[in-house]
Amino acid sequence: MKKFKIILLVFAGLIVAFFSAKTCRSLSVVGKLTELRTDHFVISYQGIYRGDAQDIADRLEKNYDRIRANLNDPAHEVIRVFVHPSQSDFNKGTGLLNSTANGTSRGPNEFHFVWTNWFNSIFPNDPLKTAVHEFTHCVQLNILIKQAQQELAAIAVADFDENFEKKFARDYPQWFWEALSIYYANEVNKISVKYARSKNPSLEYLSNSNQIYNIGYTIIEYIVEKWGVKRLPDLITSYVDIKEVLKVSQSDFEKGWTDFVDEKY
Ligand SMILES: [Zn+2]
Repeated sequence: MKKFKIILLVFAGLIVAFFSAKTCRSLSVVGKLTELRTDHFVISYQGIYRGDAQDIADRLEKNYDRIRANLNDPAHEVIRVFVHPSQSDFNKGTGLLNSTANGTSRGPNEFHFVWTNWFNSIFPNDPLKTAVHEFTHCVQLNILIKQAQQELAAIAVADFDENFEKKFARDYPQWFWEALSIYYANEVNKISVKYARSKNPSLEYLSNSNQIYNIGYTIIEYIVEKWGVKRLPDLITSYVDIKEVLKVSQSDFEKGWTDFVDEKY
C-alpha cells in the first residue's frame, strides 16, 4: 500500500511539473509574429523561443552551401521559412486540413514546418532535421524548375506552372523526392531501417508508403557509396533515369540496394 502511495505521489508530481513547465514555456516564448533574416533565409516564427529560431537559422545556413553544391543547384532566391508552434497552427497556416505532416515545401522558395517538442506532440522528432529536409525539397524543385524553364522556353508563361506541375507529378519518382531530403537531413536509425526492410519494399512500393521515411536514407547512401555523390545531380535532372545515369537496370539497382541494407544494417 505504501508503495502504491509513493508511485501515486511521483506520478502526480510529474504531472504538476509537466503543466508548470508548459505554462512557463507559453509565457516565455516569443508571442508575436517575428522575422529573423539571414543571408539566404527569412524565418517567420511565433510561439517558440528566440534561441530556437536562431538554431533553425544556423542549421539551415550551415547546410546551405553543402547541399546546393552537392546537387548542383543553380541560382536560388531567398527562401521564406514559416515555423509553426503546433500541428494545428501548421494545418491552419498551410491549408492542409487534418494533416499529420511535420513539414511541406511550397515551390522552390518557401517551406513550412512544425516546431515539435514534448509539449505539442506525443513523439516529437528533431525539428531542425525537418527544416533541412524541407530545404532539400526546395533545392530539388529549384533545379527542376530552372531546367524546365529552359526546355519550355517556347511556351507561354501562363501555362508554365501547369505544365511543370503535371510533368513533376507524373515523372519525378516520389521515393527519390523523399529519399534525397531524408538523406541530407540525416533522418535514419537502425531499428526503423530494419523494420521497413522486413516488408521487403520495392522502389515503387516506397513511392506510395510511409516506409520511405524509415528506409529512404539508405537508398541515397547506397548510390553515394557505390557511384559517388557526383551522380546525384544527373539523377535529379534526368528524372531519376537509373539506367542512363548509373548504367544498371532498375531491378539490379533494387537488388544491390537490398543487399547493401542487409549487410550494413
Ligand atoms: Zn519530404
